[in-house]
Amino acid sequence: MELVVATKNKKKLQEIKDILKGLRVEVSSIADYSGSPRIIENGLTFKANAVKKALKLARFTRKLTLGEDSGICIDALAGKPGIYSSRFSGSDKSDDKNNAKVLRLLRDLPLSKRKAHYVAAVALADKDGLLKVVEGKCHGRIGFESRGTSGFGYDPLFEIPRYKKTFAELGENIKHKMSHRYHALKKARVIIEKYIEKHNSG
Ligand code: IMP
Repeated sequence: MELVVATKNKKKLQEIKDILKGLRVEVSSIADYSGSPRIIENGLTFKANAVKKALKLARFTRKLTLGEDSGICIDALAGKPGIYSSRFSGSDKSDDKNNAKVLRLLRDLPLSKRKAHYVAAVALADKDGLLKVVEGKCHGRIGFESRGTSGFGYDPLFEIPRYKKTFAELGENIKHKMSHRYHALKKARVIIEKYIEKHNSG
């Protein structure tokens, strides 16, 4: 069975593939399908955006489809950038610019005021509609400078207090066992397994 992931972000796709390893599905990307409809991420929550991606692309692919929407919520910024994480630095966005903006906004804050968490919402849908939407979180804090080279997005800033290291320093082996995406996909895995069982037994 094929599971289509509704993302064109190669790093995100690789993380999802790694975390879902062992499932009896062939994970593909919507980037493998030409002419797929454009998704406008105008939902007000991570879950709403994940559902929109999954439903719209499942209708197009007619396959089991996984929509994912994620971001970082920073306590000192009243939960921002949240659902706007990828475009925090505006239309000319980049990971470096997003990270520079976060560091600038938190410039004078001590470690105790730099709490943040990542959120990932994962929705599963097929041609008949939505199966389930789930969410995972990972708590940490924003460091004082960029550190490390692994991962993507805000990972060079996002520090896990227990290790005193950022996700970008810790690397994928640790990140993929504790991240927001890991926690969301752990729940999604159960739904996918049941789906495979039901559809393989006719
Ligand atoms: P989306 O593709 O609209 O879901 O945007 C997600 C954005 O949130 C990314 O572009 C990153 O800026 C941020 N983000 C989500 N998950 C992670 C992660 O695991 N590491 C670093 N940044 C992340």
